[in-house]
Amino acid sequence: MITLENVKRRAEMDAKAHGYFLTPDPDFLQNLLEGLKENEERYGYPSCPCRLASGNFDWDRDIICPCDYRDPDVEEFGMCYCALYVRKDVAEGAKPIEPIPERRPQEKINRASGEVPEKKEAPDTKGAARDTNRKFFYCKVCGYVTFREEPPHVCPICRAKQEFFEEIVLDTKIKVR
Ligand code: SF4
Repeated sequence: MITLENVKRRAEMDAKAHGYFLTPDPDFLQNLLEGLKENEERYGYPSCPCRLASGNFDWDRDIICPCDYRDPDVEEFGMCYCALYVRKDVAEGAKPIEPIPERRPQEKINRASGEVPEKKEAPDTKGAARDTNRKFFYCKVCGYVTFREEPPHVCPICRAKQEFFEEIVLDTKIKVR
């Protein structure tokens, strides 16, 4: 069974091995760790708590925590996209935690949301691209919109918690005059 303590220990060891630190805000850290745990229980791997995963391991490989983008992001911005891993100056409060640009290629983001079917890799017909349980959610703090089964644990833009997300209900009725 995956425990929060295990997820935390794994992150701490990884941070130490790379000379990084975990985010200094305890509530925020807890939120991210819970997101990792939930994703690991759901998909079988700890995909990024700030990003949309497809549920297809090969498609999500780059966003399994620690993701492929962590090291360049920590080096350039002082923190990973979720701000789980931070540099010493950020951990000590000398530099604030703030939104950073998404380094993940757009085509991978689109593929995870089922927007652009890949030509070469035929999607699994039971895969996420056909998932009809997905809904639109928006962050009430910054307006970020995402299309997924549940809102993210942490807004990747403003770091607001999951409870600040609200579903967007689309009116699909066509009005005929
Ligand atoms: S952005 Fe941070 S929390 Fe998200 S997968 Fe990468 S390293 Fe992990």
